[in-house]
Amino acid sequence: MGIRNLIVGAGISGLVLAERLANELKEEVLVIDRRNHIGGNLYDYDDEGVNVHKYGAHIFHTDSCKVWEYLRQFTQFYPYMHEVKALINGCYVPIPFNLNSLRMLFPESLASDLESKLLKAYPYGSRVSILELSKIEDLKFLSEFIYENIFYHYTLKQWQCSPKDLDSSVLSRVPVCIGKDNRYFKDKFQGIPFEGYTKMCERMVKNPLIEVRLQSDFKEFKNLEIQRVFYSGGIDEFFDYCFGELPYRSLEFDFRKISKEYFQSASVINYPNNYDFTRIVEYKYFLSQKTSRSVISFEYPKNYSKGMERFYPVPNDKNRALYEKYLQKALELENVYFIGRLGKYEYFDMDKAILNVLELFDKLR
Ligand code: UDP
Repeated sequence: MGIRNLIVGAGISGLVLAERLANELKEEVLVIDRRNHIGGNLYDYDDEGVNVHKYGAHIFHTDSCKVWEYLRQFTQFYPYMHEVKALINGCYVPIPFNLNSLRMLFPESLASDLESKLLKAYPYGSRVSILELSKIEDLKFLSEFIYENIFYHYTLKQWQCSPKDLDSSVLSRVPVCIGKDNRYFKDKFQGIPFEGYTKMCERMVKNPLIEVRLQSDFKEFKNLEIQRVFYSGGIDEFFDYCFGELPYRSLEFDFRKISKEYFQSASVINYPNNYDFTRIVEYKYFLSQKTSRSVISFEYPKNYSKGMERFYPVPNDKNRALYEKYLQKALELENVYFIGRLGKYEYFDMDKAILNVLELFDKLR
């Protein structure tokens, strides 16, 4: 009879699909993952009262009612609003750069002048990409300052290339805000699962029709009879790299236990221009956990090579052209679907990954 549905990868995309297939269509699903836990990069665990995200900070945010209502079947959300600071010229300023950051970084008269120019160019409350801002002659001084101090060196560290060699969408993820709202995201729905992401994921696959097999590789299944495969790994690996390797970026986390209540003044502090790491995350902020000690991580971007964890596709025209070649090959296969950040080679957030899979499911049924 073989396997009805094989889902490769127990990350959020694979788990949503498993949940839908089992709960809605009453179909059997086998989910496999190389790692020894479910949840993919959302995986979190308790470290003496601090909920730690093993693969770095993950903050849920979405404007989609559909995604929000979907996830709320499996968890309640702690109403956490994400705020990030960056160390610029010795000051910890709000990121995205906004009018508060401006006031902290420049003397009053210059700040007032720049603020008036910004408000002449854009309505109060708007969010503008740094690349857009750079086109305004009157704001050249400010846009060059922001580009140089916030984006350029951080991006070199994170991607090992200049922002010019990446899709503009990468930098647009972090706009310049013409307002005083210090929040990182402006989405209608934001939060952190009250009992963590792992618990939420466990509830999603709580159905006897779903079997999860950990530390299990797709290679072991290649010659079996499988009716449908949903693959959330690297598409290049699926096809044995026949057109060459797709570039990815990886990360390394250096976790530290701190024997004092707080280490820093925000959950995430970015260091665009200092050190080799990009940011320090202090986890207890996400659920406002009260403990006498703390857990932090230093985040180091790494070149990806085979055998490492893939964290980000590298979005640009060249890489997309290579992905398209793989995609054409994928279209020749019946009943193999590529999902998630790696399967689709798209730098999207959790909510978009979920929406993608919910839409795929709607098509399948
Ligand atoms: N970025 C930057 N400086 C910052 C924050 C972000 O240059 O202080 C750029 C950088 O290229 C980064 C991208 O914006 O990779 C997206 O940032 P985001 O915080 O969305 O990255 P993620 O949390 O997904 O790693």
